[in-house]
Amino acid sequence: MQDTVLVVGAGPAGLSAAANVTAAGYKAVVVEKEEVLGGAPILSGYAKLVPSGEWAKDAIGRMVSRVEQDGNVTVHKSTKVTQLDGEAGNFTATLSNGEKVSAGAVVLATGFTHFDSINKPEWGFGTYEDVLTTTQMEQMVASGKIACPSDGRVPERVAILLCVGSRDRQIGREWCSKICCTVSANLAMEIKEISPETDVFIYYMDIRTFGLYEDKFYWKSQEEFKTKFVKARIAEVTASGDGRLLVKGEDTLVKRPIIIPFDIVVHAIGMDPNEDNPEISRVFGVGLEKHGFIERAEHYTNTCGTTRKGIYSCGATYGPETIDDSISQGAAAGARAVADLHALVRKAG
Ligand SMILES: Cc1cc2nc3c(=O)[nH]c(=O)nc-3n(C[C@H](O)[C@H](O)[C@H](O)COP(=O)(O)OP(=O)(O)OC[C@H]3O[C@@H](n4cnc5c(N)ncnc54)[C@H](O)[C@@H]3O)c2cc1C
Ligand code: SF4
Repeated sequence: MQDTVLVVGAGPAGLSAAANVTAAGYKAVVVEKEEVLGGAPILSGYAKLVPSGEWAKDAIGRMVSRVEQDGNVTVHKSTKVTQLDGEAGNFTATLSNGEKVSAGAVVLATGFTHFDSINKPEWGFGTYEDVLTTTQMEQMVASGKIACPSDGRVPERVAILLCVGSRDRQIGREWCSKICCTVSANLAMEIKEISPETDVFIYYMDIRTFGLYEDKFYWKSQEEFKTKFVKARIAEVTASGDGRLLVKGEDTLVKRPIIIPFDIVVHAIGMDPNEDNPEISRVFGVGLEKHGFIERAEHYTNTCGTTRKGIYSCGATYGPETIDDSISQGAAAGARAVADLHALVRKAG
């Protein structure tokens, strides 16, 4: 079993971890709770990814095929780990399908849960058909047609509200979800590309299109696609008499109240800790940090570690993360796992 690594979760991070385990000549057993591999980008039907601009189904699809075609990877779909016994170098996992897996190390790549906009009722989700989340809007973009769900009309104006379920202490979400500013600037461009007659407004507190994304997404969205960025505090989304939506709040640059009609309002939802994390903490015996994400070990010398020896982690398990960084961390976690197993075998021999 010291030649096997158990990878839990098959999103970008887990798929990367598994591929790097087998590249080093070890075996990987992947346990994924859903019926399909690929994680959030596939399960939620993301459109074109930032920053690559590639369709999620193609880019992440390549990662899925690489793992599914790898003879040294065993995949269990629609399965969870219900119990983990043993210690680093010698774990036994009991799966929900009744099988047992022996593995020398474990990589937790169980990711995050999308914020549920129902928890922000004053912004109209669940009340009005034309209030959507970014994942729903991405699915609309992927379908190639931009239309109001309520009656199929082409929207004249779409509002994207940033930081929904992030940076909001009132509802216990104190973190920035890192990628939603960039995703929203990109989404605005995609909407305009499909529906040139639609104007897109982005309501923001701050814009965090970090690193090279500033130029590629923020400025490009404004200058080439005429997206309008409005610095505002949104109070509520209500219905107007003519069946449109009213976004009410304060323009915080000119300090004036604003009430603007829109046809579609999009919530740029954030990344919550995986709702399974209390169960994952119990089953795998790893700690959670104060918000409920997986607790990181000391990072400088125990990179990808958790609070339990022999159990590693990567990607959005640790907190909001981008796909590119989740993939890099998955590769690092897979490499750490096999390096530590190699050292154990050498020590024993
Ligand atoms: C609306 C939106 C759009 C985004 N678009 C982009 C983008 O364009 N570019 C970008 O860089 N980032 C984007 N992101 C962020 C992106 O979703 C994450 O970076 C990425 O999904 C993290 O990958 P992961 O593998 O760590 O986690 P996940 O994608 O969450 O994968 C985790 C996997 O683990 C499985 N799992 C969970 N719990 C268990 C369990 N108990 N047992 C077994 N399996 C389990 C899940 O089913 C899932 O398959 C976006 C985020 C949001 C909210
Ligand atoms: S990335 Fe932007 S939209 Fe997302 S939480 Fe941070 S500031 Fe808000």
